[in-house]
Amino acid sequence: MKIEIDKHAGFCFGVTRAIKEAEENSSLGIACLGQIVHNAKEEKRLNKLGMKTVTKEDFPSLAGKTIMIRAHGEPPETYTKAENLNIKIIDATCPVVLKLQQQIKEKYNLDKNSIIVIYGKKGHAEVNGLVGQTNGEAIVIGSIEEAKNLDVSKNIYLFSQTTSDYFKYQEILNFLEKKSKVFHGNTKQFKAFQTICPSVKNRIPKLKDFCLNHDIIIFVSDSNSSNGKMLFGICKETNKNSFFVTSTNDIDKSWFANVKTVGISGATSTPFWLMENIKTKISSL
Ligand code: SF4
Repeated sequence: MKIEIDKHAGFCFGVTRAIKEAEENSSLGIACLGQIVHNAKEEKRLNKLGMKTVTKEDFPSLAGKTIMIRAHGEPPETYTKAENLNIKIIDATCPVVLKLQQQIKEKYNLDKNSIIVIYGKKGHAEVNGLVGQTNGEAIVIGSIEEAKNLDVSKNIYLFSQTTSDYFKYQEILNFLEKKSKVFHGNTKQFKAFQTICPSVKNRIPKLKDFCLNHDIIIFVSDSNSSNGKMLFGICKETNKNSFFVTSTNDIDKSWFANVKTVGISGATSTPFWLMENIKTKISSL
């Protein structure tokens, strides 16, 4: 049985950058604000090196110390709270997220009567950081049903969380553009921005090819990873013999009967070492 790990899987550059910061500062007991990456196994590895995971509720006890902001970014109020408590910040916000925060802030300040709409997951750390650029006024939608309830009489600026589902975003974009056109007679009041991260978007065609080239696909991710859910959906659509696993414990021997080629892939938050462990486990069956 041939087993191949998808060479395009593994951490994206934003996560790689944040993990590097954590590794370099872990011996100093760096405290990361929130789970560093949506992968409990990788978080545990870094915790063992000395990195702690903290929340904003811990801020009073961190006065005078240093915290790290992960790749998802944070709203402006986090920086203010930290400054007020003399907490120093190592900022590992991904440059792609930072650019999106700036774009949203710019449109919000330019046109206060407009509606900023963000397609993403309510309560997700990145989305909270994006909404924070608009004083909490941006509307977060997670489906076309929610898009149907939007008031299009004002100017609308539509953005997407960087790891959202590309195809669903296109669907929402087309729907709102049409709705705005019907209301105003033109599309001048509607502006949409392509803000899905290229690291996620560009993986879609490569992942489809990878899925077609194997009898079975083992997709490794944590269930709270947005891009993990989306990329696994692509696997399942392309190759119905796709299975979602979080660790070697989830591997079921019966999946591999009469299988000649196995493909292992994962989310942008899945460490390569975890996919290697999965490969070793499958080889031993
Ligand atoms: S998926 Fe894209 S935006 Fe998100 S951390 Fe990775 S590189 Fe940055």
